[in-house]
Amino acid sequence: MLIDLHTHTIASGHGTTDTINEMAKEASLRHLTLLGISDHAPAIVGSAKASYFRSLKHAPRKRFSLPVLFGAEVNIIDYNGALDLDNDTLSCLDYGIASLHPPCLRPGTKEENTNSYIGAMKNPYVTIIGHPDDSRYPIDYEALVRAAKQYHVLLEVNESSLSPTGYRGNAAACYQILLPLCVRFQVPILIGSDSHGKRHIGDSAFAEQLLADLSFPRELIMNDYPDKLKCYFHSIM
Ligand SMILES: [Zn+2]
Ligand SMILES: [Zn+2]
Repeated sequence: MLIDLHTHTIASGHGTTDTINEMAKEASLRHLTLLGISDHAPAIVGSAKASYFRSLKHAPRKRFSLPVLFGAEVNIIDYNGALDLDNDTLSCLDYGIASLHPPCLRPGTKEENTNSYIGAMKNPYVTIIGHPDDSRYPIDYEALVRAAKQYHVLLEVNESSLSPTGYRGNAAACYQILLPLCVRFQVPILIGSDSHGKRHIGDSAFAEQLLADLSFPRELIMNDYPDKLKCYFHSIM
């Protein structure tokens, strides 16, 4: 994987100790061409405050010869898609990954969960929907894919969910519904490692295997196409 935009540093809390520099060094050693840092937004206990995300606009963007983007994994906090960072803060970043996490929004009905994703997609600073594979949140996948196309948002295939240590239920079963719909409606996906710390940066083996099993077309996998990926960002890469 050349591009990994879903990674967490020490600023995300929960025991992660690696800094942005340590992450960038590792990504460089693993020959990534682009690294994105997407720490947990404030609704996750122990994570960074809004001021951290605002300060990133002053942080160096080239480290160990590797371009680094700064984003946030924002939490969807209601069934209308409200987020836990305001748009002023999000505008300081390169991208936003919007995700559902049980501590921030308890799973609702299929309609409520789907509405929460679609509401988040309407926010111009939301670039990616993170791990739409959590079987604790039943989703109308066709509505999700249609909305991703309408609002020009990428759907993530999350490596961490698919690993044997994944904790989001049967993620593979969710992707087996989602991914054929992405093909039918020609909606691109982005693989994200969701590495907490440097250990899993760029990992994609389980995601790649699933995509191969489904004969998913390479041209819809944006990790391979930095130029196409650029048009999903409100900042200039
Ligand atoms: Zn997440
Ligand atoms: Zn994450």
